[in-house]
Amino acid sequence: MYSAQTLPLILDFVNITNKLNNNFKDTLSDDQDGNSTIEILHITRKVARRINSIHTSSLGLHPIVYFYSQKGRHKIASFYATVIFLMELEERKKLNEFIKVRAAFESILHDFDFLVQQIQRHYRSSIGSYPYIKDYFFKIIDLLNNGVLKDEVINELRNDANFHYLTIHTDDIVVTSKDFTRERKSAVYIRDAIKSALKCHICNGYIHKNSITIDHIDRKEDGGVGSIDNGKIAHPYCNSTIKN
Ligand SMILES: [Zn+2]
Repeated sequence: MYSAQTLPLILDFVNITNKLNNNFKDTLSDDQDGNSTIEILHITRKVARRINSIHTSSLGLHPIVYFYSQKGRHKIASFYATVIFLMELEERKKLNEFIKVRAAFESILHDFDFLVQQIQRHYRSSIGSYPYIKDYFFKIIDLLNNGVLKDEVINELRNDANFHYLTIHTDDIVVTSKDFTRERKSAVYIRDAIKSALKCHICNGYIHKNSITIDHIDRKEDGGVGSIDNGKIAHPYCNSTIKN
C-alpha cells in the first residue's frame, strides 16, 4: 500500500486542503509549539472525513469512481481535483446541488474516465491540471442541474471553449500477449467491482464499504422502528443532512 509515491501524495493532500502552494517554506514560519501543525492537520482531517469515513459529513466517495481509471491506473490528478471540488462545494454551498445529480455525475465520470486523462495531458502534469479537472466536475454538475440529459452532457460540455480540446475518441490497443498484465488484471477487477458496488438509497450514488450507515426508511420521529425491513444503506451525509 505504502510506496515511494505515498509520501509526496500525503504532503500534497495536506498542502491542498490548507491552500498552501509549493513555496510554503517561504511563507510559513517555524512552528514553535506544534500548534499550527495541529491546526493544519485538523483542516486536512475534515476533508479526509468528507471523502470517506463514517463521520456524519462523509460523502462516502467510491475510490473506483473518483481515483482510478477503468484501466486500473491510480489517477492522482483526479484525487487532487476531488479534494478541492469537495472544499469548493462546501464553500459555495453547493453540496446539495451535487447530491441531487450525484448518480448521473458518477456514471459520467466512470464512463468517460479517459477525459480526465485528456485534461491532465493538456495541462501536462497532475499538479498543473487538477484545478481544471475540478472545473470539469463543476461544469458537469451545472449542466445536469440545468436539465441537460446524462447522455448529452459531454457533447454539451465540448461546446464550451474551455473544454474544446476534449475528444470522445479512445486509443484502445489490441491485446496479443497471452498473459494478463498487472494493469489488465486491475482493469478486470474494476470492471466487475463497480458492477456489484452498493448504492445509497437516498441519492443513488455509489457507496464505499468504509462509509455505510443504515437509514430508517420510516423515520424514528414518525414511528419508524429498527427492523431489518425498515433499514436501507445510505451515505452518512445523505442520512444525516439530506433527509432532515
Ligand atoms: Zn447518498
